[in-house]
Amino acid sequence: MWHEAADASDCHIAILDKEGGILAVTAAWRRFSEQNGGDPAGYVGCNYFRACEPNAAGNGEESLAVSAGIREVLDGKRSEFSLVYPCHSPVEQRWFMLRAARINGNGPGRAVVRHENVTFAEAFEAEATRILEQIVQNELLTTVLHGVVSLLERKHTGVHCGIMLKSEDQPEVIVSQGCPAGLVEEIRARATAAMSGDFTSSLIQLANAVGRDRLNPPNAKPDDGVVAGSRGCWPQVFRLHPIRNSQKELAGCLVLCADTPYSPVHKTVCDKARSIAAIAISHAAMRDKLSLEAWYDPVTELPNRFVFQDRLQNALRRGQSRGFEFAVLTLDLDHFELINDAYGRRVGDTLLREVAQRLHRSIGAAGLVARLGGDEFGIVVDSPDAAQEADTMSRAIVEGFQAPFSVVGKEICLTCSVGASIFPVDTVEAAELVHKADTARNQVKRSGRNNWKRFDAAVEIVAQERKDIERNLREAVKSGRGLHLVYQPQTDSRERIIGVEALLRWDHPVLGRVSPSRFIPIAEENGLIVEIGCWVLREACLQAVRWKREGFDVRMSVNASTVQVCRSDFAETVTAIIAETGVDPESLELEITESALMRDLDDGRREMDKVRRLGVKMSIDDFGTGYSSLHRLQGLPVETIKIDQSFVRELEGGSRSAVSVIQAIVTLAHDLNLTVVAEGVETRAQIEILKSLGCDVFQGYLLHRPLMAESVSELLQAEERVPKEVVLPSCGAGI
Ligand code: C2E
Ligand code: MG
Ligand code: MG
Repeated sequence: MWHEAADASDCHIAILDKEGGILAVTAAWRRFSEQNGGDPAGYVGCNYFRACEPNAAGNGEESLAVSAGIREVLDGKRSEFSLVYPCHSPVEQRWFMLRAARINGNGPGRAVVRHENVTFAEAFEAEATRILEQIVQNELLTTVLHGVVSLLERKHTGVHCGIMLKSEDQPEVIVSQGCPAGLVEEIRARATAAMSGDFTSSLIQLANAVGRDRLNPPNAKPDDGVVAGSRGCWPQVFRLHPIRNSQKELAGCLVLCADTPYSPVHKTVCDKARSIAAIAISHAAMRDKLSLEAWYDPVTELPNRFVFQDRLQNALRRGQSRGFEFAVLTLDLDHFELINDAYGRRVGDTLLREVAQRLHRSIGAAGLVARLGGDEFGIVVDSPDAAQEADTMSRAIVEGFQAPFSVVGKEICLTCSVGASIFPVDTVEAAELVHKADTARNQVKRSGRNNWKRFDAAVEIVAQERKDIERNLREAVKSGRGLHLVYQPQTDSRERIIGVEALLRWDHPVLGRVSPSRFIPIAEENGLIVEIGCWVLREACLQAVRWKREGFDVRMSVNASTVQVCRSDFAETVTAIIAETGVDPESLELEITESALMRDLDDGRREMDKVRRLGVKMSIDDFGTGYSSLHRLQGLPVETIKIDQSFVRELEGGSRSAVSVIQAIVTLAHDLNLTVVAEGVETRAQIEILKSLGCDVFQGYLLHRPLMAESVSELLQAEERVPKEVVLPSCGAGI
């Protein structure tokens, strides 16, 4: 009975005695021997090792290894031996697996030898390795998937198969070679049905439709694949397997279509093919993501600077070859850094995303919007009338910012400044177009922001001048040449000097005298003001100490820029200069413009409080030009307000409104115990009105121009000689 059973199986088996003599073989062994030109009786009675020898010629190494392995089993040195070895016929590449096992317990004994054709498994592994290499080498996903389906070649597995990827559009099906066209459609239909919605429940529905108990064991997991049964003219059985990506999400579907029942071999190869497809899909997704990151800004998801440059170059080529016009717009957000400082980066990033969406809405399909970096965006607009289009678009952008942005429960008001340049009117070079749009935008910035402007050459001249000033100013600060202070006296109502304001002067050998109104804003923009401000404060303090030594007690007012005040080391710097120069902090006053207070920045306010605690006085300069309500004066660490020159000038023309404004300022200031200084007093008429309105201190050309320190000393000495009748500033004097 054992003989019959062995003959009925398709296994090539032989039993060897302890010398290697072949005692018995199965029918499959005999058949194979005969088919390959050997003994039709399968060499029964011969010695296995000698039967092996003819092979040794072709496959010397492997044949010797087989002989040695089997000998060791027969000699009892090992209980088992196995080896995969090539056994190519003239027409076919073949691999066999040899397994030898001892039959009789320990010691020398008989052995059973079994050969198994593993050609498909070997070829499969080799091909699988090749496909994995393709994945690593970034081969196209479809090429890789074609390789995967060919792994399951019909001649070895008896199946047709297809892979369908999950996709928004009409998904492509990649099928094995020789798959009939109708079957491709059928595979597509099956996969689409399975992937519509949740794969598992779709599969369960399909499984139920074909009889779960018959074809799908009740305990089978959906990922093991589900049999979908045959339909219509296709007698085959369809088997559907989900393909999941590295996040375990459904990424596709592998469909097998076989006319034989599904065997364990099917399952092994199918699982392997499926996992290679999953690796390929995850790898392609990762690659796509990386290339997305190379071209898109991750915060706003807008194209980045590289895409912008690319688009610009394309527009330029088209423009040059076909004579088209186009516009370049650059824009940035006004005071965006303050929002980042005040609310933090997270809010800043969310705001940038909102801005990107609004820009998209304003521009639509008319141009490409890219984020160039920070709070800067660039737009390329193709249009037959580029200048007109640039204006329309810029207006739409600026107006688009009018409604506040709503970000993480906060309403944030934000404006932007836009500059534009036109090809070929302004220039025919890409970098120049961007530069010219930037120049126009900077012009917008300087003239109050929240607007747009097209490049014009006159603007560029101004911009060039600015650059000259900037460069020369840096040199002046570095060398200390050309900078000096003058002092403009401030008087009481008897017109006696009670203090001076230190004012910076810069004389340049070529540029001549440059007004601080011109160079201070430039120094504020490029940060040089911090260094300049320190220098001014130190010089002014040293002068105050000199006058004190000469016996003159004058209050020294020094202008401090918002940029300085908002630095977290401002109070520390002031403290160090006071200590270094030995100035009496009580005789020092810092003038800060109203806009600095308006910004309402915690840092600035904290620093001002610290400075105030040193005994230094604080004054609000140019009061009335900002937008702070008079009531906001309450609680600020200031002693003095300086009414802006423009109101004083208007008095001359008899302006009733100027009178009312000054009156209101004085009344409120005195209620708050603040001293009021009127600056820019040029005429007797003005000073008389100002006195009558209750102003406490006066500064202006009528009284004294800004003077060199020596001239102020002379004035102070002259006043000494006049009998003293000191009138102190009348804090809180009222009218
Ligand atoms: P400010 O602080 O309001 O200084 C008063 C300006 O008015 C000074 O101009 C002064 O010369 C001018 N002025 C004084 N009396 C009269 C007058 O009767 N009529 C007219 N038309 N003008 C008068 P200056 O020196 O050109 O300074 C302009 C601005 O530059 C200053 O305005 C101040 O904001 C800034 N500045 C000057 N020096 C410094 C400094 O050392 N540091 C900082 N941060 N800013 C400074
Ligand atoms: Mg001032
Ligand atoms: Mg002023």
